[in-house]
Amino acid sequence: MNRRYRKTIIAGNWKMNKTPSEARQLIDELKPLISKAKWCEVVLCVPYVDIPVALRALKDSRIAVGAQNMHHEESGAYTGDVSASMLKDLGVKYVIIGHSERRAYYHETDTLVNQKVHLALKTGLRPIVCVGETLEQRDQGVTLDLITVQVKAALSGVSAEKLRQIVFAYEPIWAIGTGRTATSEQAGEVGASIRTTIRKMYGARAARSVTIQYGGSMNAANAHDLLAQLDVDGGLIGGASLKAADFAAIVQAANQ
Ligand code: PEP
Repeated sequence: MNRRYRKTIIAGNWKMNKTPSEARQLIDELKPLISKAKWCEVVLCVPYVDIPVALRALKDSRIAVGAQNMHHEESGAYTGDVSASMLKDLGVKYVIIGHSERRAYYHETDTLVNQKVHLALKTGLRPIVCVGETLEQRDQGVTLDLITVQVKAALSGVSAEKLRQIVFAYEPIWAIGTGRTATSEQAGEVGASIRTTIRKMYGARAARSVTIQYGGSMNAANAHDLLAQLDVDGGLIGGASLKAADFAAIVQAANQ
């Protein structure tokens, strides 16, 4: 991470876990453990139904609330979906876009991801845009090319002024929920490549202000090494964000 130019952001992705009562309990456990987070921004991306509880519980803290998805249209006949303006109105600050689980199970494409990025920015939400390769693609040696395509597509039509609001999360699919983490060198290499792509599109100054997270089995034991990479400016954390002590330890590693 490079604190001179950009913010370190540690975000928890609870996925489809925790009822509202459980959410309240977890946040109550977490809050005293991370009250001294001074260097990095901490975000909890909770299920939609937990958002009001999380916002209330975190009102007097420095922890922000994020959502895990949003619809790509502003409003309309989309039964069961949630819009960007609904999230904004509640007080949500961040929204995960293009998580590999959504790309895989809901067939979200790069084009859809780009539509969501535009709508999130227009609405005043900060998108956490997920990119990453399968194990097969890594073995084929196409990781950097593939991620360049994903990054370019996500940023298509985004102005330099809005770019600062975007967070990228490099999440190798083979490392998500598997306990198999990318090495810090692998994470650093892809982080640097993402920044190079942004630099080519927007120039060096804009590129160095973008936060690029790593996600994929990040935990208290490996966080320090991953975050030591120049182009790993934080983490998107699934499993370890469901345990207060584990998540707090990652925040602690980012605060050192
Ligand atoms: C994720 O879901 O974004 C993630 C990184 O999960 P995990 O930390 O469990 O691998």
